[in-house]
Amino acid sequence: MRFSTEIVSGHGFRDQYGSHVPPVYVSTVYEYVDHEAGLAVFTDRGTYVRYSREENPTVRALERVLARIEGGGDALAFNSGMSAELALFLHLAKPGSKVVVPYEAYGSTLLLLEKLSERVGFKLVNVWPSADSILEAAGRETSLVFLEVMTNPTLKVIDLVEVCRNLGEGVALAVDNTFTTPILLKPLKHCANYVVHSLTKYIAGHDDVVAGALVSKSTGVKELWDWRRITGGILQPIEAYLVLRGLKTLEVRFERQSKTALELAEFLSEHPGVEEVYYPGLPTSPYYSLANKLFEKRLYGGVVSFKVKGGYERAVAFLKKLRVTKRGASLGGAESLAVLPAKAGSAPIPRDVREKLGITDNLVRLSVGLEDPEDLKEDLDQALK
Ligand code: PLP
Repeated sequence: MRFSTEIVSGHGFRDQYGSHVPPVYVSTVYEYVDHEAGLAVFTDRGTYVRYSREENPTVRALERVLARIEGGGDALAFNSGMSAELALFLHLAKPGSKVVVPYEAYGSTLLLLEKLSERVGFKLVNVWPSADSILEAAGRETSLVFLEVMTNPTLKVIDLVEVCRNLGEGVALAVDNTFTTPILLKPLKHCANYVVHSLTKYIAGHDDVVAGALVSKSTGVKELWDWRRITGGILQPIEAYLVLRGLKTLEVRFERQSKTALELAEFLSEHPGVEEVYYPGLPTSPYYSLANKLFEKRLYGGVVSFKVKGGYERAVAFLKKLRVTKRGASLGGAESLAVLPAKAGSAPIPRDVREKLGITDNLVRLSVGLEDPEDLKEDLDQALK
């Protein structure tokens, strides 16, 4: 089926009643159909279930649809995006190997890798977010390259095609697709081995559930499944239900948010109170042609970043004056949110590197919601004034 159909019915759930919506299976324990089936729980994922820390039928329905919309062989859902990343790193970041990650990554990702590298004994190499820098660092001893194709918060675009063309064999590539979503990009169709999601953001889409996922290109997820099982990272069934519910409207929400984001980026570019706007959908952006090469539908996502003229104090005053957009450190929900990344998600990046990346103290990241674009514009205008 095509993407829009898969997104609403790709969970593949069937029961004897013909339920359209996969029910929330709250039972933690499931009776063995027979002894052999009980032992074969992994190989028959979702057919036989033993215990909800291993598998759960509601969670399995979500995993099926996530694998289909990303073009993967299988998926595993976790109780947060960070929990998904932990399982991935435990699986791939081998002692003595090298892990390459751009500096401009989600702050907790950087912290997790830093702490794990000391414990596990792999070498963490942070690089400038570009295909050239990644390829230069990713030598033969590299076990993993982890990147976001559109970086957070300055929305640089990394040339995934170029990374794929030149990445050495045997180097695993994992792409965090939280900002781009499979609406813009399907990294597994390029050369990524894994896609990571904070489902908390666009996929669940309503700021009411924390969840994460790993989607694997291959069907071979046994080791990752084991990490999830023994670290207790599986998503809970009610949360899985909420993500399944939100996912059905991902496409319409994301398209609308992306269109409003472009409108706001254009508006902010003309505003005298704004120093600089970061949005790859603006023809003036250095990433415009790359975004058009990589992203589908000529959409560029629902986040816009910009610098408030006058420095940190002015940026804080601007945030305080917002009436429609709320202040908050997340993204992808129905309501618009603004944050100063240098004081939130990007705080773990050393200050000098942060500033070179453009993440100065007056940089605002705006996650565009589903409000009327005119109300958002008027709100930004009055707060900037
Ligand atoms: N990846 C990105 C790009 C994020 O923005 C976040 C959270 O903000 C995460 C991963 C972590 O996800 P979670 O908060 O669901 O653990």
